[in-house]
Amino acid sequence: MRNISTFSKGGVHPADRKELTCTKEIVRLPTPKHIIIPFSQHLGVPANPIVKKGDIVAAGDKIGEAAGFISADIHTPAAGTVSEIKEIFLPNGMYTKAAVIAVDETGSLELTEKRDWKTMDPHQIVAEVKDLGIVGMGGATFPANVKFSVPKGKKAEYVVINGVECEPYLTSDHRIMLEKGLEVLEGALIIAKMVGAPKVYIGIENNKKDAMEHLESLITAHHLPIEIQPLRLKYPQGDEKQLLKAVIGKEVPSGALPIDIGAVVSNVGTAQALYQAIVYRKPLIERVVTVTGDAIRDPGNFLVTIGTPIQDLIDACGGFREQPEKMVAGGPMMGFAFYDLQTPVMKGTSGVLALTSKESRKEVTTACISCGRCVAACPMGLQPTRLYKNISVGNYTESLGLGLLDCKECGCCAYVCPAKLPLVQGMRLGKNMSRKMKK
Ligand code: SF4
Ligand code: SF4
Repeated sequence: MRNISTFSKGGVHPADRKELTCTKEIVRLPTPKHIIIPFSQHLGVPANPIVKKGDIVAAGDKIGEAAGFISADIHTPAAGTVSEIKEIFLPNGMYTKAAVIAVDETGSLELTEKRDWKTMDPHQIVAEVKDLGIVGMGGATFPANVKFSVPKGKKAEYVVINGVECEPYLTSDHRIMLEKGLEVLEGALIIAKMVGAPKVYIGIENNKKDAMEHLESLITAHHLPIEIQPLRLKYPQGDEKQLLKAVIGKEVPSGALPIDIGAVVSNVGTAQALYQAIVYRKPLIERVVTVTGDAIRDPGNFLVTIGTPIQDLIDACGGFREQPEKMVAGGPMMGFAFYDLQTPVMKGTSGVLALTSKESRKEVTTACISCGRCVAACPMGLQPTRLYKNISVGNYTESLGLGLLDCKECGCCAYVCPAKLPLVQGMRLGKNMSRKMKK
């Protein structure tokens, strides 16, 4: 294990609230009788449906086909009949088509054949990653085959696995490292094989010492060429740029990608899904979700079939202890508020939070007092106050010049702002308007 490190610029220290679920082992939830499978569960163009009402499907069948370079295939986790193709509203504010499947065979896909990934060709692995619909499961949902195809002229030196899970409340990655550690480590080595990188690191924050020790013991026992990098607690260390600075000490320049400094980043959930995809030919049809918050009676971590309505997860926790003030899909810093409990679990749903009024801190917004705290907190070295002021008056060109597109929407600025200004919403609006202007 290496010496503890962190990134240098900005960052905040929100209360982590992980004590609610970090010791809760992953429990498999049964597949419900009806599942709702959205055709947009990834960054990029929604998949094209290739099934219609009345079609019979088997578990693991492809039901949506990637519709562009940045897109991903969609599979059904269970056998059944397509009872409807309908439009649904997602927590991120998008409408998408979704297949409703009346399940006639519960349970998970049968995993029979076990393959030796070490004998496989890297190009074949990338093709299968695409075919099995693997996307980043840390929240960004970027199609994994695109991320792991190193462009001509670039070279991957490092694979950095993100075991940081810096969002407060969430513990699904922590539990995956503890309960599926060897699969995560082998997944990391599969990624290294795909991209041709000689060095593999796993960055883990210091509040998960048990996971560090567990992975270290597996690395030693199996003689794996992987190093653990312990990290000091700081949000947003799980962001690619901050993680790379903390783990390999290199900065990704503005407008550049990790591969431009020879690095490929993947989170632990993705590494584990990748292991299962390549070793068992298993599409991405289930994931671990943390269900927590003070409004939940008995918070926990669950292995959930994609398409399961969130209501089923709440029921598995014994329901609400009190009426939540706010429901969030994902973590409290970067997640999306939603209200419809029929919203399905998707490939990027790392957590479901039911927050009480005390936790969700509805506060009154006042005028900016020019305190500069947002500037000190921004990990990207931006001036959130100037960006926000320009966006508020429709001056999008100026805000682009101030580095708006470098904003990661991490929420550090809003977290420290004493005026409680909706800075992140401002950045999102600015980016959307700039894109529209460009078109
Ligand atoms: S949301 Fe954007 S502007 Fe605000 S701190 Fe994060 S990166 Fe900086
Ligand atoms: S933290 Fe809030 S009040 Fe302070 S300068 Fe930034 S926007 Fe203004």
